[in-house]
Amino acid sequence: MPQYDHTCKKCKHNFVVEMRISEVGNKEVKCPKCDKAKDVERNVTNTSYWSESVDRYRWDK
Ligand SMILES: [Zn+2]
Repeated sequence: MPQYDHTCKKCKHNFVVEMRISEVGNKEVKCPKCDKAKDVERNVTNTSYWSESVDRYRWDK
């Protein structure tokens, strides 16, 4: 399962979340440090290659 880099803008905590491609954008990611979800930002730079349609097909299986 791909891992996604996240940054909490509230407390500046960086953490990694494992989730399926289909969950990205749907699943609410909470900061493990301050438990806030709305200030969490996904760092797309590290994960941009997962958005290729070929990889998406593979990881949805
Ligand atoms: Zn936080």
